[in-house]
Amino acid sequence: MILKLQCYDLDVVYIPGKDMFIADTLSHAKFKSQEKDEELDKTLNSLSEDLRVHCNFLVKSINVTDKQLEKIKIMSYVKNKWPHHKCQVDDVAKVYFNFQTDLHVIDNILFKNNSIVIPKSMQGEMLSKMHEGHCGISASKNLVRGIIFWPSMNADIENFIRDCQTCLKYSNNNSKQPLHPHNIPNLPWEKVGTDLFHFDSKTYLIVVDYFSQFVEIALLNNSSNSQSVIIHLKSIFARHGIAKQIFSDNGPPFNSAQFKSFCDDWGIEHKTSSPRYPQSNGLVERTIGTIKNMLKKSGSDIYLALLNFGNTPKSDGISSPAKLLMSRNLRGVLPMSKNNLNPKNVSIYKEREKMVVRQGKMKYFHDRNARPLSRIKTGDRVVFKHKPKSDLWVPATVVQELVPNRSYRIRTPEGVVYERNRVHLKKVEQGSGQQMVVPPSEPPEQQSVAQPLGMSTPVSSGRPRRQVIIPTKFKDYELYTP
Ligand SMILES: [Zn+2]
Repeated sequence: MILKLQCYDLDVVYIPGKDMFIADTLSHAKFKSQEKDEELDKTLNSLSEDLRVHCNFLVKSINVTDKQLEKIKIMSYVKNKWPHHKCQVDDVAKVYFNFQTDLHVIDNILFKNNSIVIPKSMQGEMLSKMHEGHCGISASKNLVRGIIFWPSMNADIENFIRDCQTCLKYSNNNSKQPLHPHNIPNLPWEKVGTDLFHFDSKTYLIVVDYFSQFVEIALLNNSSNSQSVIIHLKSIFARHGIAKQIFSDNGPPFNSAQFKSFCDDWGIEHKTSSPRYPQSNGLVERTIGTIKNMLKKSGSDIYLALLNFGNTPKSDGISSPAKLLMSRNLRGVLPMSKNNLNPKNVSIYKEREKMVVRQGKMKYFHDRNARPLSRIKTGDRVVFKHKPKSDLWVPATVVQELVPNRSYRIRTPEGVVYERNRVHLKKVEQGSGQQMVVPPSEPPEQQSVAQPLGMSTPVSSGRPRRQVIIPTKFKDYELYTP
C-alpha cells in the first residue's frame, strides 16, 4: 500500500470512525451478488454429509423434480428476490415473509437457517416419526429444533401429542384439586355420612355425624342388602334421632329403590358423592381408616375402642364427639369422677366456630399443592380411569355434568355409562394431530419445500418477527439484519 501511495502527495489526518458518516456507511454495504455467493458457499461447506443424504431422501420421497420446485413460489422468492411488501407476496409464501432473511435454497431444498423446511404433505409423517418414542411435548420440540421446520410446527406438535391415544392411555394422574369441604352443620346429628366397609371377611355399616364426628358401626352379618342396611340405620336413628340429611356414595345398597323409599318415609334428604372418588365423602373415608386401625389393634373388642374414640377431645380445643352429641362424657373402663359424668351444656355456637377455623387451616395446607382442573362440557371427549388405582386411561364421551366441575356421567364407545369425579377424567383436546398422520396429497405447487442454512445458528422457534420497513433512502443497499 505504501508503494502504491508514493505517487501521491497526501496529508494523513486522523478522524474517528463515528465522524466519517459516508465512508462508514459504505463500508457496511456489500454487493448483493457477492453476499449471496458467500452465504451459499458457507452453507454448502458446512452442510454435513448425512444432512445431504437426508435432503435427497426428502426430495425423492415427495417426488418433486427440479422443474416442479421452480414452480413453487417461495422457492422463486428465495432464489431471486422477495417483494418489498407482504401484500405483494403470493398467499402460499406469505407465512414465510417475516423470516425471509433466514431462508435459503441449497440443492433445491429449502432451508430456514440450518433446518429443512418440511412441505405440508410431509408434516404428518414428520410428527409421527418424532413421536415414535412417545416423548412429551417439550422433548419432541427439542428433538426437532434446528433440524426441521414449518411455520406452525410447534402448535402442530402440541396438538398431535395431546391427541395421542397411547400417551393419553398411560398419562399421569391429574393434580390434586382444591379442597371443597362440606359445610359444617349447625346442629349435632343434622347431617350424617354413611358407607359400608369390609374387614376380616366381615361387612360393617358405618354412620358418622358431620358435626360431632360421633361414630356408629354395625356388623351386617354377611348381608349387605338394602333391607339389612335400612334396619341398622333405623336402629341408630332410634338412639340419636333421625338425621335431616344423609350422605353416601351412589353404589349399592344406597342406590336402591328400598333405600329411597326409606329416606322418603323417614323424611331424610339423601345426597351422594362421586363414585370411586372417596375424597368427596372424606369424613366417612377417614373415619373408616381409623376404625380399621382400631379393629387391627384392638382384637376382639372394637366397641371399647369406639367408646374411647367417642370420649376423646379433638385437636384445636374442640370437644369430644360424645360431649358434642350428648353433652356428657360416656362412662368407660377408665375411672371417672361423678363430676365428669355430669351432663354439661356445650356451646354449639363456639364449638362450631372452632371447627370452621380448623377446616380453614386444613384447606389452606391442602390447597398449597392443589390446582383446579378445567371444566368439561357435555359432548367433550375424555379419557377416564376405569379403576382409580389403574395406570390406564380409557376413552369416553361426557354425556352429563352432575355436579359442576366435580362429577360427570360419561359413556364409553361400547355404550357403557359410568359416573366419575373430575379428578378421574382428562379432557382430550380436539386437535388435528391424529388427522395429520395421514397427510392429504397436495399438488406440488402448494408444497413449501424449503430450507436454510446457517449451520452454526440454532433455528428459531418459528415465532413471527416484526416486519421491518426499510427507509427508501437505503433502497439501493442490502442491509444487515441481526
Ligand atoms: Zn404418544
